[in-house]
Parts: sequence; structure tokens; C-alpha cells
Amino acid sequence: MGQFSVKIWGATGSLLSGNQQVKVPILGVIENMSGFTCPDCGTVTHIFHQGGGEAIAQELDVDFLGKVPLDPTVVDCGDDGRPLVRAAPDSPAAAAYRSIAATLAWTGGDVAGIATPFAWTIAEGVGKPSPAPIAEGGPADRLAALDHADGALLLRWSDGTDQRLSERDLRLACQCAQCRDEMSGKRLLNPDTVPMDIRLTRVWSVGNYALGMAFSDGHDTGIYVFKALQAMVGTELEDV
Ligand SMILES: [Zn+2]
Repeated sequence: MGQFSVKIWGATGSLLSGNQQVKVPILGVIENMSGFTCPDCGTVTHIFHQGGGEAIAQELDVDFLGKVPLDPTVVDCGDDGRPLVRAAPDSPAAAAYRSIAATLAWTGGDVAGIATPFAWTIAEGVGKPSPAPIAEGGPADRLAALDHADGALLLRWSDGTDQRLSERDLRLACQCAQCRDEMSGKRLLNPDTVPMDIRLTRVWSVGNYALGMAFSDGHDTGIYVFKALQAMVGTELEDV
């Protein structure tokens, strides 16, 4: 493959180069340094070979989210802590960021799943999302309904599949950098420190691809990507 730089964003915002194995869920591939935007005339010149990001996305079987051109303003804004989309909204790089954000926030057409954003405070019963219609053959990766009962989070996917995940299992499955080593995937969280009666206190939407969750131990940095939730084994199997 040509000389280019590809960044892979995990759900935790981890940034790693293309050939590293990551143990965080991968939302997609963004190719950066994809052409140089001349600050004087705005012409984009492709200094490196193009198309590497798409090839890697295909290899990893994840979405290709877009290309961000090489632009000195990106560096300036990063150093100053200013959002590029605000500082230089008309730049090709800002347009690329907007397009990538729109791709991640896509609502999925007719069977859109529950409306986002939502933020549900479970104890107070405030902000619980209304169920969305399900359809046979509907998209399995869209969340149609959420509920909470008997120490578990109940999830219904848009194809009608139901899932029941215990609050403690969810806490133990946290993939955040405090709970899980990003490189090895090894669990850093000691299960013995997680109370048996730990409670889920809040659940909120993260785009249309993940849920954020807060627990009664005060932990709230985990992002639960739908695919990872679906890979979790429901506790009803153990209850039988
Ligand atoms: Zn965590």
C-alpha cells in the first residue's frame, strides 16, 4: 500500500495506527493526510497515494467513514483547542469532519430505531426513550426499545430480538481505558471490587451506534457499542 496515514477510531476515542491490533470496538476507518489543501488557492494536491483507508476498512470489515485532507489549520486548531468546523467552516477538512459526523449519526432510514439523543435517569424514570416499531427482517443493529427490570437492562433490537443483560455484567463488560487495557484487551477492573448489588443509574445514547452507562459506583466512562452489547450473553440462560 502507498505511503499514507490511516487512523482507526475506537469507541473510546483511541487513536492507533493502521497496523496495530486494537481490542476496542472499531467504528470505522478515517483516512487523514488525504491530499494537501493549498492555503492560498484551496486546491487539493494528493501528495501520498490515495485509497489506503478504503482498503483497510475492507480488510477489517468496518465502515470507511471518510478522508480528511492535510491542512495546516487542523494543526493550529488542535494546538489552540478550537473546533476546526467553527474556526474554518468552509475548509475542505471541516467539510470532511461534518460528513464523517453525519455518517456516524445516520438514523438508518425507515426502521430508525429509538429516537436519539436521549438520556434516561433510571431511578427517577426520567427521559426513558419511547419504543420504536420493530419489523421482521428489520435491521438487527438498531435498538428499538429499552427497559429495566429485576437488576437487568432489557434491550429490544429492530428485528424483534430481545436481550436481557444484568447490571453487574454490564459493569464488568465496561471497555473504557480504566477498565480494560486497550492494547491487550486484558481486564484491568477487578471483579471483586464490583458489588453484587451494583445498579445502573443512567443510560444515554451515543450517536446511533452505542449507549453510555452510569453505575451506582459512580463509574460513567464506558461506551457500549451495539455490536458489543449483542455479543454479550444474556443472563436468562444462567437463570434457567
Ligand atoms: Zn470503565
